[in-house]
Amino acid sequence: MGGTLSLSKYSIGVGDRFAHQAKPQLHACRMAAEQGVEVIPVWNKSNREHTIIGSSPASTRAAADEAVRTLGWTKPYYVDADHINLETVDNFMEACDFFTIDVADMIGRPSQAAPLRAFVEGHAELLGELLIPGVAHPFHIDRDFMVQVANKYLAAVQEAGLIYRRVEEKKGKGQFITEVSMDETDSPQTPAELLIVLAAVAEEGIPIQTIAPKFSGRFDKGVDYVGDLAKFTEEFSNDVAAIAFAVRHYGMSSNLKLSVHSGSDKFSLYGPIHRTLKELDAGVHLKTAGTTWLEELIGLAEAGGEGLDLAKEIYDQAYSHREELCAPYAAVINIDPAQLPAPESVGGWSSEQFVSALRHDPKSSAYNTSLRQLLHVGFKVAASMGTRYLDLLSAMETTIAKNVTGNLFDRHLKPLFIGE
Ligand SMILES: [Zn+2]
Repeated sequence: MGGTLSLSKYSIGVGDRFAHQAKPQLHACRMAAEQGVEVIPVWNKSNREHTIIGSSPASTRAAADEAVRTLGWTKPYYVDADHINLETVDNFMEACDFFTIDVADMIGRPSQAAPLRAFVEGHAELLGELLIPGVAHPFHIDRDFMVQVANKYLAAVQEAGLIYRRVEEKKGKGQFITEVSMDETDSPQTPAELLIVLAAVAEEGIPIQTIAPKFSGRFDKGVDYVGDLAKFTEEFSNDVAAIAFAVRHYGMSSNLKLSVHSGSDKFSLYGPIHRTLKELDAGVHLKTAGTTWLEELIGLAEAGGEGLDLAKEIYDQAYSHREELCAPYAAVINIDPAQLPAPESVGGWSSEQFVSALRHDPKSSAYNTSLRQLLHVGFKVAASMGTRYLDLLSAMETTIAKNVTGNLFDRHLKPLFIGE
């Protein structure tokens, strides 16, 4: 083992539900590198996804290693134990070198009185009018607000500390990247709250290199952002400034950056984020979750024949199991059942019709967000098909790979990291 692992300025968390697309994903990162922009790939898969697919973190690791070998990638890459907690972390220990510690469930659990008091008393520097470079309006943090925020997050941060130390004990200090995520919770964190949380994380001694707050607006699965863009942009840039403040004042990792858990495809945010990163000379980690699986479906449908038939069959089953498929994601999907075409009519579709309904091209009138979201959560259907699905992935690899690479490069890496 060498020195301390350090996450580069730009990194992308790519999801790959069935562990078949690591190569086309890495190919997209190579295309960015060829344009002079280093974007480090991180293969992420949560415990929930592994459970549904019936896979293990070792398979994610094997696919990533193989892609790296085949493409001759010499820059860093990581395998992320995504959204782990104390119960699930052990299963990821061996295969992963990136740990996203999820403490969302602990947010709001009241803190004990003594640590709460000590924290509030120890952070008088945050009280009053805090003018942070890069922030237009000073943060107003009074004692009551501080107590309220600390009471909401302190227990969660302490839990993150427990998880971090458990990983550190097994993997060794500096031998893995640490992220803390707070995105899967009800209410967004304001930049002032983020700053208080960062102070707590620093005090807990967790050397995070990236942190995922919940931003305001809707981040539904597989479709674009719904919310006030100007407000998001201000919030994002204030978060970046809050991080810079925490790095200076609390000695946090100098490469500390925001992690945007996008639920995939927040295209309208990429321009504003790109401009903010340039302006403030900041980095970002973007998690794109599971649209790779949708590109597999697009590739199958585009290939026609058996591929198209299978794509239709998956839609048919997803349609009839809509409620159970959607239930776990209720907070992050927004499907209008009236917009879902009947499976009988999809049965008569051509490749082009299927592809254009599913492909995330906001400018296309055939694009159907409800159908896309249903299929997004419908990976369970494909998982239940086992080798039948996987064998077709291999048979139609070329068409699928083209879609996976094109999607990741053209619609994500380019607008976010390179700029259009
Ligand atoms: Zn997340």
